Order: sequence, then structure tokens, then C-alpha cells
Amino acid sequence: MTRERLIVIGGNGAGMSAASRARKLKPDMEILAFEKSGYISYAG
Ligand SMILES: Cc1cc2nc3c(=O)[nH]c(=O)nc-3n(C[C@H](O)[C@H](O)[C@H](O)COP(=O)(O)OP(=O)(O)OC[C@H]3O[C@@H](n4cnc5c(N)ncnc54)[C@H](O)[C@@H]3O)c2cc1C
Repeated sequence: MTRERLIVIGGNGAGMSAASRARKLKPDMEILAFEKSGYISYAG
């Protein structure tokens, strides 16, 4: 069976919000986030 995969480009507000939302909606989904700066958003 193939696993659903979400690729997020950008790890600031929008990217991490999208990744968090996807994790809540689909706990089994594979989520890969790429951030070019090396620092992701730290705010809630
Ligand atoms: C000077 C300034 C002041 C601001 N002040 C406020 C404020 O006081 N309050 C407020 O609410 N908003 C403020 N904003 C707006 C706020 O910063 C943006 O609305 C918010 O950061 C947008 O988030 P985002 O995740 O959509 O995009 P961004 O913050 O632009 O994040 C995009 C991310 O993608 C990464 N990225 C880009 N290309 C690639 C790539 N090819 N591969 C991997 N990663 C990549 C970048 O490194 C970046 O981390 C301000 C903006 C500016 C410019």
C-alpha cells in the first residue's frame, strides 16, 4: 500500500501551520518539510 506524502517547502508560519494541520487531520501521512535557512518557526 502506498503511503500518502505531503511535501512542505518553507518552514516558517505558513509551512509549519500546514504541516501541523495535516498531521492532525491525517496522523499516518508522511510529512516532509524543507527549510532553506536551517531555522523553522518557533511560535505557537
Ligand atoms: C519587515 C517585516 C515585518 C513584519 N512584521 C510582522 C508583524 O509584526 N506581525 C505579523 O503578523 N506579520 C509581520 N510580517 C509578515 C510576516 O512576516 C509574514 O506574513 C509571514 O512571515 C509569512 O509567513 P510565510 O510562512 O507565509 O512566509 P515566510 O515567512 O516568507 O516563510 C517562507 C519560508 O520558506 C523558506 N524558503 C523559501 N524558499 C525555499 C526553498 N526553495 N526551499 C526551502 N525553503 C525555502 C524561507 O527560508 C522561509 O523560512 C512582517 C513582514 C516583514 C517583511
